[in-house]
Amino acid sequence: MDIAKETTALLERLGVDKAVLAGGSMPSYSPLTGGKVADLSPISAQDAAKAIDAADEAFRQWRNVPAPRRGELVRLLGEELRAAKDDLGRLVSIEAGKIPSEGLGEVQEMIDICDFAVGLSRQLYGLTIASERPGHRMMETWHPLGVVGVISAFNFPVAVWSWNAALALVCGNSVVWKPSEKTPLTALACQAIFARAASRFGDAPQGLLQVLIGDRAIGEVLVDHPKVPLVSATGSTRMGAEVGPRLAKRFARAILELGGNNAGIVCPSADLDMALRAIAFGAMGTAGQRCTTLRRLFVHESVYDDLVPRLRKAYESVSVGNPLETGALVGPLIDAAAYKGMQSALEKAKAAGGEITGGERMETAQDAAFYVRPALVEMPKQVSPVTEETFAPILYVMKYSDFDAAIADHNAVGAGLSSSIFTLDMREAERFLSADGSDCGIANVNIGTSGAEIGGAFGGEKETGGGRESGSDAWKGYMRRATNTVNYSTVLPLAQGVSFDI
Ligand code: NAD
Repeated sequence: MDIAKETTALLERLGVDKAVLAGGSMPSYSPLTGGKVADLSPISAQDAAKAIDAADEAFRQWRNVPAPRRGELVRLLGEELRAAKDDLGRLVSIEAGKIPSEGLGEVQEMIDICDFAVGLSRQLYGLTIASERPGHRMMETWHPLGVVGVISAFNFPVAVWSWNAALALVCGNSVVWKPSEKTPLTALACQAIFARAASRFGDAPQGLLQVLIGDRAIGEVLVDHPKVPLVSATGSTRMGAEVGPRLAKRFARAILELGGNNAGIVCPSADLDMALRAIAFGAMGTAGQRCTTLRRLFVHESVYDDLVPRLRKAYESVSVGNPLETGALVGPLIDAAAYKGMQSALEKAKAAGGEITGGERMETAQDAAFYVRPALVEMPKQVSPVTEETFAPILYVMKYSDFDAAIADHNAVGAGLSSSIFTLDMREAERFLSADGSDCGIANVNIGTSGAEIGGAFGGEKETGGGRESGSDAWKGYMRRATNTVNYSTVLPLAQGVSFDI
C-alpha cells in the first residue's frame, strides 16, 4: 500500500488542489505506517487574522439570511457529505488510524448532525413570558452571535468540526476552524466539500468557512482575536486550562470539550456477556483514543472471577494491525509520544501494584508506526496513574464490595465526561443516574461509555470543561439571547411598583 499516493488520490477526488499538498514546511504523517503523506504550508499569524476578519464580514451578511434558508446550506452540506462518505471515511482512517467502520461512522455522524441542524433551522424558538405589567408583552429572541472559532483534536478530526459548524451555520454565524496539526488533510477535504455545498447554494457570502492550517500558535490567534465571540475548543485538559482563562480575560464565550477518565461499574446482576462486549469496544476500540474511551472499571467481587479472565482473553486475542490491510480491530497509536505516554503510565501502574496483560509494541514492517496490544491492568486500588487520563488503550480494573464506595471512587477523579453501569437491578441503575450517582455529563445503563448519538447534548463536567455540543439545546450556546419587553398601553408602569414621577 503506497499510502502517500493513495492519500493524494483521495484528496484530489475530494476536491483538494494537489498543489497545496507539497512544498510546505509542515509535514503530515499517517499513523498507519508512520510515513509522510504531504508537506503543507501553515498559515501565518497575519493571514490567520485576515481570515478571521473575512469571516466577520461574512457573518454580517449571513446573520440577515432567514434561518430556514441557512438550513438549506447545511442540507446541501449533508448531501455532499453523503456523496463523499467513502472517500472521506477512508481518509479519516489514513490520517487518524481508525478502522474502516469507524472512519465511515465518523462521516455518518457528520451527516446526522447536518440533518439535525436542518430541522433546527426552523426551530430556533424563544419563549413568550408573562409580564407583571398590564399592556406589556415580554419575549426572548435568539440572534446570531458572530464568528465561531473551532479548535479540534486529532482523534475526531472531522466530526467535531461538523458538530460545531452545522449548528453555528444555521444559527447565523460564520466559522473559523483550526484543526489539529496531526490531522490537517481531512480538514482540507471538508473545506472542499463545504465549498461545493456553498456553490450549489448560490449566494452564500464568501468567507463563511475559514480553515487555518497550523499548530497551537495559530490556535492562540483565534483565541485572542477580538472578533471571535465564541471558541469551541476540543482537546486535552491542559489545552483547556490555557484557552479558558484567555477567553475569559476578554469576556469571550468558551465551549470546552476536554479530557475524560471514564469509568464503568459492573454489578452482581449484570448481563456479563453484554458487559464484556461493551467493555471491549469501549476500552480497546479506536486504540483507546476516544475522549469517551473506558479507562477504569469497578467490578463487584461476586462476578470478578467470572468476568475478568474473559476480559483478559479478549485482550490477548484481539487483532491489532493496519486496519486497512488486515481488517484488525485495533489500529495504531497516533505517534511516538502517545506510545511513550502509554509505557510511562504502565510502568507507574506496575510500581503501584498493577498486574498487566498486554501493553507491548507489536512487530511491524514499519519502524515509525506504533501498534500496541491494548493493556488490561488489575489494580489493588485507585491511585495514580489510574486517576489521570492516558490517551492510549489502558483499562484499569478494580474489585469492589460496597456500591456506595464504588460510586465514590467512580467520581473521585478530575474528569467528568462519560460513565456506565452494568446492572439489571433497577435501584442500582436509578441511583447511578440520580443526583448522588455518576457526576459525569454522560451516564449510561447497560451500554459502554463511548459511541454517543448526535441527538443528545455531548460534553462533561469538572476538568472535562463543562461545554455541551451537538444535540438537545446545545444550539443556544451559539446564539445570543435578547429579552424584549413591548409596552402597548398608554401608561408607563415601572416594574416592582417603583414610582419616578417627573
Ligand atoms: P491537544 O490538546 O494536544 O490539541 C487539541 C487542539 O488544541 C489542537 O488543534 C492544538 O493545536 C490546539 N491547541 C493546543 N494548545 C493550544 C493553545 N494553548 N491554544 C490554542 N490551541 C491549542 O489534544 P489532542 O492530543 O489532539 O487530542 C486528545 C485530547 O483531546 C484528549 O485529552 C481527549 O480526551 C480530548 N478530546 C476531548 C473530546 C471531548 O469532546 N471532550 C473529544 C476529542 C478529544
